[in-house]
Amino acid sequence: MRVFQHYIGGALVDAATHFESVDPANGAAWAHMPNASVDDVNAAVDAAEIGFFSPTWADMTATARGKLLFTLADLIADNAPKLAELETRDTGKIIRETSAQIAYVAEYFRYYAGLADKIEGAHLPIDKPDMEVWLRREPVGVVAAVVPWNSQLFLSAVKIGPALAAGCTVVLKASEDGPAPMLEFARIFDQAGFPPGVLNVITGGPEVGAALTSHPKVAHVAFTGGPETARHIVRNSAENLASTSLELGGKSPFIVFDDADLDSAVNAQVSGIFAATGQSCVAGSRLVVQAGIKDAFLTMLKAKAEAVVIGAPDQMDTEMGPLCTEAQRQRAVDLVDRSVVKGARLVTGGAAITGDGYYFPPTILDCSDAPDAPCLTNEFFGPVLSVVSFETEDEAITIANDTAFGLASGVFTQNLTRAHRMIRAIRAGIVWVNTYRAVSPIAPFGGHGLSGHGREGGIQAALDYTKVKAVWLRTSDDPIPDPFVMR
Ligand code: NAD
Repeated sequence: MRVFQHYIGGALVDAATHFESVDPANGAAWAHMPNASVDDVNAAVDAAEIGFFSPTWADMTATARGKLLFTLADLIADNAPKLAELETRDTGKIIRETSAQIAYVAEYFRYYAGLADKIEGAHLPIDKPDMEVWLRREPVGVVAAVVPWNSQLFLSAVKIGPALAAGCTVVLKASEDGPAPMLEFARIFDQAGFPPGVLNVITGGPEVGAALTSHPKVAHVAFTGGPETARHIVRNSAENLASTSLELGGKSPFIVFDDADLDSAVNAQVSGIFAATGQSCVAGSRLVVQAGIKDAFLTMLKAKAEAVVIGAPDQMDTEMGPLCTEAQRQRAVDLVDRSVVKGARLVTGGAAITGDGYYFPPTILDCSDAPDAPCLTNEFFGPVLSVVSFETEDEAITIANDTAFGLASGVFTQNLTRAHRMIRAIRAGIVWVNTYRAVSPIAPFGGHGLSGHGREGGIQAALDYTKVKAVWLRTSDDPIPDPFVMR
């Protein structure tokens, strides 16, 4: 069994207690993970606070911070195969995805490395002749970052990159499910040359997250996870009045019009719902398809879904691996059963795959005659696609927006003017037209409603880790006149 450690104050440290991490491909424990105590949380936050105020970090130029981030990016690129292997082992995410995603994580750090010395303040044309007023953009302080198991390195990079570029320090709580890649990332981070305490990595369950996010020294909480946990986080922030950015789930519509390139749309839908075994916040989990092509489209989709190569996540030819936990697989079984009871028709899949590991097949539920099927509304983190049909464009918009979430959406049509109308009408943080699941460090990512608030990626994400200081400087040498007149 491998043993992992926390990273606090620039050192790898043991925890008093551990928990076992299980390989989702076979259900066997393979590593001991440190389980943070409240004392560990306090030590990590203290280290981050000391790091934040230490001259080696606080007085470092933004350009120098950027250079360290470039070094980190190179280290990640060099270590990508090792990190990918660990993420695959600990979460069941297939090696094809972890390899490509982690190589791209290096690009996120490069983007924020380049941005570090472009986070500018402003000069104000103030309405007083003897004053100069300008705005300084300063780092908010200690950031608590809390992430879920899926794409953990990626979801951490979109927090750590902009936070460090802005001059903050970070305590990251890795998910208790599959924390290995983040604990290994900490060892790699250590080689980049950052001062101690700039990044601290701990792990453990909800109680560790609660202690961290309510900690009085935390200024901002960057959270990715489910809406229910987000409610706890917001309540926790009543303690420290920290600002929050919340990247939550979705029930994203994937809309296909009858003039679409159906081969492309089918491939995008397969990737949109079955990639990452459906454990993706932007999963296109509601297929909204025009009635005239519904049967043809479902026939094509069923054939592709049934051809998905399910297998060991560490094999390069595997297209879909196991779910991360047995509990997650049981939720899939329950969701399908409850939806079928409500009238949903099982097109393919639907039953857990027997044998070792937490495997569940690509599953499609036709909900055309089951408007109350829970699979249409419940965010579910797994390979379960719900299907509804529409006749008119207005109907497609109504169905697309009939959700409390608002993260992503996809529109497949070759009609340019219709595409523009759909872009305007859909309530979501991302609209992909004739594509799906594309991301880039340059483009902001996030949602509204139950999908949360704040944006990751792009320039805005770095600004969210800053606060504005207004500076007033009087330029007159004359004595200050009447002290009781407001100036
Ligand atoms: P989760 O909300 O259960 O857990 C996420 C993290 O929060 C974990 O590290 C967990 O330990 C921690 N946590 C749990 N309770 C806490 C508490 N009371 N206080 C503080 N921290 C606490 O999510 P999950 O089940 O691990 O992940 C799946 C969810 O994440 C889905 O809803 C999915 O849509 C969402 N997600 C969103 C995005 C996005 O960018 N929008 C990306 C990936 C996943």
